[in-house]
This record gives sequence, C-alpha cells and structure tokens, in this order.
Amino acid sequence: MKANIVTRFAPSPTGLLHAGNYRTAVFSYLFARQNGGKFILRIEDTDRERSKPEYEANILESLAWLGLDFDEKYRQSENAPVHREYLEKMIASGHAYISKETPVKEGDRSEVIRFKNPNKVVTFSDLIRGEISFDTTELKDFVIAKSLDEPVFHLAVVVDDFTEGMTHIIRGEDHISNTPRQILIQEAIGAPRPIYAHLPLVLAPDRSKLSKRKGALALTEYRDRGYLPQTLLNFMAMLGWNPGTEEEVFTLDQLIEKFDLAKVQKSGAIFNDEKLLWYNREHLKKLSLSELTNIATERIPDLAQLNSNQLKILVPVIFERLSTLAELDEMREGGEWDYLFTAPAVSKELLGETKYLAETIALLENISADKFVPEKIKDAIWDFATEKGRKEVLWPMRVALTGKEKSPDPFTVAAILGKEETKTRLLAKLD
Ligand code: GLU
Repeated sequence: MKANIVTRFAPSPTGLLHAGNYRTAVFSYLFARQNGGKFILRIEDTDRERSKPEYEANILESLAWLGLDFDEKYRQSENAPVHREYLEKMIASGHAYISKETPVKEGDRSEVIRFKNPNKVVTFSDLIRGEISFDTTELKDFVIAKSLDEPVFHLAVVVDDFTEGMTHIIRGEDHISNTPRQILIQEAIGAPRPIYAHLPLVLAPDRSKLSKRKGALALTEYRDRGYLPQTLLNFMAMLGWNPGTEEEVFTLDQLIEKFDLAKVQKSGAIFNDEKLLWYNREHLKKLSLSELTNIATERIPDLAQLNSNQLKILVPVIFERLSTLAELDEMREGGEWDYLFTAPAVSKELLGETKYLAETIALLENISADKFVPEKIKDAIWDFATEKGRKEVLWPMRVALTGKEKSPDPFTVAAILGKEETKTRLLAKLD
C-alpha cells in the first residue's frame, strides 16, 4: 500500500530558480499525485540575509504557472520555535551540546551548538541510487545551530520534514552528502526515516552543472519568452526520466499516470534548448483552434477585429511555423498583419507585370461572396495560373493584396479579406 505519501518541494528563496530546480518540484508533485498523496511547498528561508520576498513570490508564480498546486505551504522561519524546542531536547538528552569556540575570523561565535556524533556508519537505501553507506566519523561533532534561535540548515530541514510528516524526500543529488548528517539528527530526535530519492543533476550541454552562468533562465523568463507551461512541465519531467517508449509528448495528466520514480536514471540529465523548442512546437500543435485564437488575439490585439470565419483561416496559418509565442509579439511589433486591416502601399517594382490581373479578377467574380474560401479561390484560378505561369499570375495577385514580399498564399489572404476587399485591391492595380 502506498497510502499517505507526503512529498515536498523545499526551495530556498535566494535567487530566481531555473528548470533544474523546478524539476525537483515536478518529480515530487507527480509522485505525490499518482499515489493520491500530499505535495507540500516549504520555503527554506533560514538564510535571512539572502532570502528575499521577491524570490519567494517568483516561486509561487512559477508553480502556479506550471499548474503544480500544493496542499500545504510552510515557511521555514515560521517553524523557529519548534527548531528551538528540538535543540533544547537534544541538549537535554545529550545528543547535542553547547560548545565553546575560539573565534578565528570576524563573525565567528564564541559559542555554538554541536551535534554529539555517535561516529557510526549510516546506511540508507536511495530509490534511485540504491544502498549508500557513509562513515560519519569524518563529520566530527558538526555544528547544528549558531544559537538556540539560529539553527543551521540541516537541523531545520530534519525537524521540518518530521513535523510536516514527509514520507519521501525527493531532491537533487547535490544533497546526497547532506543525508548522513540529516539521518543522524533524525535518529537523535526520534523521527522515522523517510524514503530518499536523489535525482540526477541537470547539466548544461557542456555537461557542467546547470546554472545561471551556463545560460539557465528563470522559469518565468521562459514564460515571458513565449513557452507554454505544459512544454516546461513535459520537458522537466523528461530530465532524468522517460517512459521506456519512444513517446515523448505528455500532458500533466498523462505524466501523473506514467511517471515512475523507480525508473529515474542515475546519470546526469542534459538541458537542451533545441529540445525545449521542439517540445513547445509539439504542445502548440495540441492546442485547439479556440485556444490558439485566444493566444493570438491576446498577443496581437488587432486580430480581434476579425470575425470567426476569418480567424478560422488565419490562426492555423499564423501558428504553422511558430516555435514560441514571443514570435507573435514580433509579428505585432513588425506590423506583420496590418495589411489585413488597411490596404497596403504596394511598390510597383515588387508588384511587377500585371497583365493577367484583369482575368484573375474575372475568375474570382465567379465565386459567390459566401463561398469565398481558400479552396474555392484556388480552384477558380489554378488552371489559368498553370496555363499562364503560376508566378506570373499568383505573384501580382498576392502582392496587390499584401504589399509584401512574403506572406501566406494569395488564396488564403483573399479569403480572409473577403470578396469585396480583394476585388477593390486588385482593381486598384490594374493598368
Ligand atoms: N532548500 C534546499 C535547496 O534549495 C533543498 C533542501 C532539501 O530538499 O532537502 O537546495
């Protein structure tokens, strides 16, 4: 039985977190949700100097964007009275002691609280890495608090995990060396040992640890650059895990169903921007016309002037080659679709020969206004264009409608403009 599973994401709000950090949240979330367990967010703000409210706000914003809802939220600093209580208990029971120190550099204390190390071999079984043994003797009597009100990270983590009821500690491999120390503290306070799963590091393409310096962006920066949340979720879920099939594109629900913590790999997972872009295109393809329409009109407000028939034709064309939503912003800034709303200035040079334009207009005249759709327009002109030369017929038609060197094909543009506007624009270019 997997009843009552409790996992957590325990970020320190000391900077903007990147996908390598949030990958831990994704794995913990998927594991909790697939087992009907709880997922807890704990903001680890014990480092009071470096913890900043704006970083905490960014963590909440990022999790909300990803759709990773948590069942409980704690702030480590708010558990300070409990940390103190456990420190006092440990001192009373002889598991810790107040130690007189000789300060060597500025800021050093003359008194700290040290853990009374039983000097033994700690063995724990990691879900991903298997059995790990560590002789704690070399840790000596390590410091667990600078004073009763200033616990160090290890003490706070262990007390919090215990009092918040964690059953599974899923976190980055960089915390493996902390585990023996934390197990010793657990044993001293009588806490049950949770199950550990240390995730492989997320690496930059040069196989060094992923970091800001290596170009890792904050998650919200990916959002601002036009990536979908489902892209990042899917991408992060695959950093160190795969379902063992060729399948790669998954929704959150599918990930909850398929994810398998026991199948997480040991070797580092490489963060690859190209792959991320690929995932974004794949997830864009999964969106419905109405979802795409909402996104397009939100980023290019002018498009809201078009009716649903026009949008039905235009929106798929807009998204055809799109990799990120930021490209919509570029379209807006570049006035890419302005010609749909105002007749463009058309340079004679770009337009070229217009000797077939009159016949083109006559052929279009045969289509009724309510049947003026890309396929019908194409049918009406195609044979004529094939006979006279496609470029000679279609280029001037398209340029007369758009004024641009590059645009969607003239059938699509004509259909969006409608029969009347198309005729008006073409007639204006007759010699
Ligand atoms: N606060 C730690 C970090 O941000 C995580 C601690 C843990 O997961 O045990 O790296």
